[in-house]
Formats: sequence, C-alpha cells, structure tokens
Amino acid sequence: MKMKVLKFGGTSVGSVENMNNVKNIINDGQRKVVVLSAMSGTTNQLVAIAQDIAEKNPNEAIDKINKLNETYFTAIDKLLRNKKLNEDVKSYVSGIFNFLVESTYKEYSETIENQIVAQGELLSTYMFNSYLNQEGVSSALLPALSFMRIDEFTEPDYNYIESNFKDVFENVEESEIYITQGFICLDINGEISNLQRGGSDYTATIIGAAIKAEEVQIWTDIDGMHNNDPRYVDNTKPISNLSFDEAAELAYFGAKILHPQTVTPVRTDNIPVRLKNTMNPEAYGTLISSKTSVNGVKAIAAKDNITAIKIKSARMLQAHGFLKKVFEIFESYKTSIDMITTSEVAVSLTIDDDKNLDKILVELEKIATIEVDKNQSIVCLVGHSVVNHQDTFKLFQILQDVKIRMISYGGSNNNISLLIDTKHKITTLQKLNNYLFELVTL
Ligand code: ADP
Ligand code: ASP
Ligand code: MG
Repeated sequence: MKMKVLKFGGTSVGSVENMNNVKNIINDGQRKVVVLSAMSGTTNQLVAIAQDIAEKNPNEAIDKINKLNETYFTAIDKLLRNKKLNEDVKSYVSGIFNFLVESTYKEYSETIENQIVAQGELLSTYMFNSYLNQEGVSSALLPALSFMRIDEFTEPDYNYIESNFKDVFENVEESEIYITQGFICLDINGEISNLQRGGSDYTATIIGAAIKAEEVQIWTDIDGMHNNDPRYVDNTKPISNLSFDEAAELAYFGAKILHPQTVTPVRTDNIPVRLKNTMNPEAYGTLISSKTSVNGVKAIAAKDNITAIKIKSARMLQAHGFLKKVFEIFESYKTSIDMITTSEVAVSLTIDDDKNLDKILVELEKIATIEVDKNQSIVCLVGHSVVNHQDTFKLFQILQDVKIRMISYGGSNNNISLLIDTKHKITTLQKLNNYLFELVTL
C-alpha cells in the first residue's frame, strides 16, 4: 500500500503545544513516514556554536551549549510526564550535549561543523517518538543516517537511498508512524553532511520519490505558498494550486517556505506535494501537481545575496567562443549562473555563491574588463505563461522609479526575473503586489 510522507518544520515541533498538534494531525490510523526538522532556533544555535569553535571561542560555545541544554530539559519536563520516558530522553539528550561540549575542545573542521548541526534533528525526532509512545501512538524511528546519502556532486544517491530505506523500514518493528530526521545525510565518504539549510523539505520529497509515495505534505507555520513574501509585504494571499514548474521557480528564487530543490525529486513521478499549516490544519493550503492553471503572474519571490558581474570585451564583438570561455571559468569553480543578459560588447550575469568569486575574477580579467556589484536581489515573477500575459507589459510602468540592473524575459514561459539593488527590494515587492494583485490602478 502506498504511504504518504509528512514533513513538519521547526515551528511545528518547536513547542509542546505544537507537538501535540502534530500528534493529532498524524494520528489518523494510516501508515505514514513523518520527517521532522529540528525545533525552531536550534539549528541556528548549533551553527553559532560551530562558528565559535571556528573562531576559537570555546567559552562562548560552552555558554550557548549550556543555555540550549537548559531549554531542552525544560521542554522535556513539559512534554514527558511519564517518569521512565522522561529519564530515558534526558539521558539521550545529555549524550548529545556532552558530544557538543567535547567538540569545543577539538580543532574546527567542516566535518565537525556538520556533526554539530546534525544534532538538532536527532534531538527532535527522539523526543517526539517518545512523546508518541507516552500518548499510546504506535511509532518507530528510522535513522536517516542509515539510508540518506548524497553523491560526489552532492546530489541524492537515489539507488542507495531506495534500497537502504527499504532495509531499515523492513527491519524496524511494525508501526503506524515511521519517524525520521530531515536535513541530515551522509556524504560520499560516509561522513555526516546535510542537504543545506531548510533541507528537511528536500528529505521529504527524496523519500517520497524513493518509496513512490501517494503524496508528500509539507506542514509549516503558514497556510501554503503565498503570492508574495509575507515577511516583507502586506496583504499576501495563499495560492491554492501551483504546477511543479511554478513551484520549482518560486522555491529556487527565494520563497523560503520551500527548500530550493524540493520539487525536483517528485516531479517526474508526478507525486503531488501539499503545503499545509500545522497551526490551522483546516485551511486548504497549496497543492503542487502537474496541473497548470490560469495564465499570468501568480506569485512573486525574491532571492538575496546575489552578485552581478559585467564582463566587457571589445573582442567579444563577432567573436565566437567568447561565451564558452566565460562559462568554462564559472564551471571550473563549480559556480552556477542564475541570470544572464548580453549585448554586443558585454555580458552581465549573476551568481549566488560567491565563495570562489576572487579566483573567478582573476581568470575573467585575463579576457575582459570586469565590473562587480554585490548586494543585489533577483525579483522573480512566476506564473503559467507569464511572459504572454497583458499585465507583464505594465512592469516597466509599475517600476518606473526602481533602477533595474538586469531583466530576464523569455528564458522560460513561466518566469520573468529582474535584478535590483537589495535596498530597493521591499518597495519593489510591495509595488508589484499593489498593482498586480491588489488591482491598484496605475
Ligand atoms: P519550516 O520551519 O516549517 O520549514 P520555514 O520558515 O522554512 O518553515 O518556511 C515558512 C516561512 O516561509 C513562512 O513563515 C514565511 O515567513 C516564509 N515565506 C517566504 N516566502 C513565502 C511565500 N511566498 N509563501 C509562504 N511563506 C513564505
Ligand atoms: N533544521 C534545518 C534548518 O534549520 C533543516 C530544516 O529546518 O529544514 O535549516
Ligand atoms: Mg523550512
């Protein structure tokens, strides 16, 4: 029988009240896989602890570890009234906090950082599994590190995941609810790694693809994908239906509700993804499926920390092979390009990973003159056939006071991207919202 995969984010498991909501949502008599994030705030704290170790501030790391330990013990006392379970969970949690303290004596390495940030999901899943046990709900833990692995290109190793998930699943005691950790995985060398921040969404769809799930549900703290970023814009509204293409564009271009890769694993098998609100389960949320619906701008998202690079060369004029050389430089530093525009003498492009920027610039300067603009944002308008819609032509009018650094139109029918300075992001998003969705007239 096909199962569903349900993922609950940090807020959903962030308090005893919310864990109780999660219990009520999943306890419906159907067998399912439940993927959990770390309790909200924990991963940020773990990243900060690793940072302290990297900066050789062990005392600050220990201070943070002690505070976090206290928070967990308070939560455990509230969550687990059953004495035996309470003691068992405290002993497990103490083991993790001892490990964190020991890490502060060690020399920083990326492996140590990855081990540290992985602890959040181990904590939340162990606690929640014991809570279900206390409440008489049949559940078992599936350790993600026994089946979740990425390859040398940091892509999920689907064959490994599928066969190892099956093994783990078949060997654990039969239950109604199978709980596993989001975000964490092993890398090609067998070291603990992760799927990047927000990666529990990705875990859920990777498992969904591996077990050919009936549906993947992402439960969070908002009633689905909104038509604009609710952190910056007033009056945003949930969108009830999105196609895989639309959802992929929105996730990639900054809609934080989804990890950028979330829909990739499930789109070929056509497994629907539902976005739901743990705090308001009755709300419809968003259904992501292969169905395309109305044309026009459906949603707007923005991605920050973008660097724009203008590459100017007189030799570019009528010179074939110039772009190839440019792309090869980015390729050799494994840096992907998001937006690109060209003219006869220059090409402008954007990257979001500037780890190797200095080295890239040294190479580019050998063939062209370079200008770099940091602190840029890509504002992305997404919707089926958006490029053909009448509203699209109003864009320049709506944004007449905003300096647009680059524009990408027609790369796909579903996406128009604008590059602006991040300091204009909020006003740009709000203006687009007013004129495109609130029907304020120009
Ligand atoms: P979780 O911890 O459950 O994974 P996240 O914080 O990662 O939750 O994602 C949910 C948050 O995403 C929302 O609270 C909201 O602030 C933010 N968000 C950004 N853009 C959007 C959008 N277009 N629609 C809905 N939420 C969005
Ligand atoms: N706990 C991880 C993070 O905060 C993964 C997740 O929440 O999806 O990034
Ligand atoms: Mg998230």
